[in-house]
Amino acid sequence: MIIDVHSHAWKYPEHFTQSLRDNFKRARKDVEVDLTTNYRDYLKNSSEKVRTIVFGGKARQSGLWVDDEYVADYVKQYPENLIGFLSLDPTQKNWKEEMKHGHLELGLKGIKLMPMYAGFNPNDKSLNALWEYATENNLPVLLHTGTNVVPNSQLEYTFPRHIDGVAISFPGVKIIMAHLSHPFENECIAVIRKQPNVYADVSALHYRPYQLYNSLMLVQEYCVWDKLLFGTDYPFTNVNDSVRGLKELNEKVGAKIKLDETEIENLIHRDAFSLLGLE
Ligand SMILES: [Zn+2]
Repeated sequence: MIIDVHSHAWKYPEHFTQSLRDNFKRARKDVEVDLTTNYRDYLKNSSEKVRTIVFGGKARQSGLWVDDEYVADYVKQYPENLIGFLSLDPTQKNWKEEMKHGHLELGLKGIKLMPMYAGFNPNDKSLNALWEYATENNLPVLLHTGTNVVPNSQLEYTFPRHIDGVAISFPGVKIIMAHLSHPFENECIAVIRKQPNVYADVSALHYRPYQLYNSLMLVQEYCVWDKLLFGTDYPFTNVNDSVRGLKELNEKVGAKIKLDETEIENLIHRDAFSLLGLE
């Protein structure tokens, strides 16, 4: 059994502004990738049984807005396999109502944030109500950390050091920093090592094998393999490619010092739902 902690559900292109589509296209050397999400297609690309955390995403500044209703409906089709998270953009005035609505009325079980895309510091005092609510209701919080391709989004908000600050003030919240905060993996590893409730996912990294090999070597030397969670970032990639990408790393980079293959196997099959208190 694989648990994928990072997958999206949205309508493409309806939930994206033209400007965000153009930015994604520029990042792929002028090729527009179809980011349509469909659970049956997702399953086709997983050879193993998989259970999945699903969210949309809200970041008005960058041009993404997926209502939580859409995610709740997606998850409702396959409730035994999918767990939905609500999304918040705290720069928008209704975020507190959306948080309660998503949790209490839609039954969503965690929170997804995109600080750099939306333009806020996750450790700003104005977000204390969010971290308090997450603590009281046992809602894990997954944040996009690491860079992006949107010119008007501020890099400053994406650094793992802010999550260190959050975890000092709110040590009870389970937090996942997405994408090992690429290419700031060293800072990410410093934070997951010192904070017991902070984890990182390895989604959407395998297509830079040398970078991922080096990041996981840091993980290995700092002894934090147990703080990594498997994720895909579907529809950007899928389960099979992500699993293969991890397993092939040693060979692909011609590693003299090898990543521990048992640890890679453990990462792929880690019971993230138990760690995050979702079951
Ligand atoms: Zn994502």
